[in-house]
Amino acid sequence: MKQELIERLTRYAKIDTQSDPTSDTCPSTEGQWTLANMLVEELKAIGMEEVTVDENGYVMATLPANTDKEVPTIGFLAHMDTATDFTGANVHPQIVESYDGGDILLNKDLHIVLSPSDFPELSHYKGHTLITTDGTTLLGADNKAGIAEIMTAMEYLIKHPEIKHGKVRVAFTPDEEIGRGPHKFDVAAFGAKYAYTVDGGPLGELEYESFNAAQAKITFKGKNVHPGSAKGKMINSLKLAMEFHAHLPANEAPEHTEGYEGFYHLLSCQGDVEQTTLHYIIRDFDRGAFEARKATIEEIAAKLQEKYGNERIQIEMSDQYYNMREKIESVKEVVDIAYEAMKNLGIEPVIKPIRGGTDGSQLSYMGLPTPNIFTGGENFHGRYEYISVDNMVKAVNVIIEIVKLFEQKTTTE
Ligand SMILES: [Zn+2]
Repeated sequence: MKQELIERLTRYAKIDTQSDPTSDTCPSTEGQWTLANMLVEELKAIGMEEVTVDENGYVMATLPANTDKEVPTIGFLAHMDTATDFTGANVHPQIVESYDGGDILLNKDLHIVLSPSDFPELSHYKGHTLITTDGTTLLGADNKAGIAEIMTAMEYLIKHPEIKHGKVRVAFTPDEEIGRGPHKFDVAAFGAKYAYTVDGGPLGELEYESFNAAQAKITFKGKNVHPGSAKGKMINSLKLAMEFHAHLPANEAPEHTEGYEGFYHLLSCQGDVEQTTLHYIIRDFDRGAFEARKATIEEIAAKLQEKYGNERIQIEMSDQYYNMREKIESVKEVVDIAYEAMKNLGIEPVIKPIRGGTDGSQLSYMGLPTPNIFTGGENFHGRYEYISVDNMVKAVNVIIEIVKLFEQKTTTE
């Protein structure tokens, strides 16, 4: 199985599928079509049924049930695009067989080294087969490892019909890295009761909590007058903006928070005397605290409006996504089964909140509860990205075990 995973991931990695937030097509880039079409052919070749790609580049396929039991349909998803943070063109994956625990020379000419002194977690991988970059690109294991793992698990189930299972759906989706992954995802056509994104990091990761997220744009209007004759007349919008920001709690910012702590993050400030705009994102795991944060923004704005006039401060605030826990808690078996699958395979589940969003956060609110499971990768989105093939095998086994458990837990004929 290791060879198949290496072959698949390296083949997918060589296609540049970086997404592009400035494009308004879906997928946002042509390379994602190239990969989508390759995956369609491959799904057909391994024997999957109902293989489709829609006009927006969403690839779907079915592994039909091989039991008469009424097992709920479950799905597995991975995204085809790679991060915008670092180049994904001309990726040359390198294989490190039985890693010795020392420095890995990624690029001799450029002296780029992947070292346990910078990345102590490398010590967990002694003896593993690793796939790394050549130091000049990202690897794209986020999330092509997920695609390789789902594909390999489906092929295994097709070749082992003695493993009984319900209907399984798989989907490979575009533009996750630019936040659009689920925007055109056809939940009804997918037709699963539960799904899993296979898009996490190291071994054991199991995630079903994400931030609640909103953004706020606050515009301050000043009154510009020649500074020599401005006394009692000039209103400097930059100073209104600074006064606004000073009302926010200084410690509730990304650089001061971790774990379950929420924050206000000032993303950008643009302005001059006449007009200034502050752009914030607001994040919290707790829905009540999230609503309270938005109320705080509105209260500060109201206070300044009272002081300087309503017309001086305009506020536009909108929600972006919500904590999927709210949608998953009522169907907790979707998480419990993944937990049990890992335990059965001797993998210790690592449950932690995602300080961000996943496709699953949006999908869960679209009616498809979707926690996230590990791929086995580390250091996503940069030149030091790598993945353990040994742990990729474990991810494949977790997918197979989840499929088995759904069948075993169904008692209705
Ligand atoms: Zn990802």
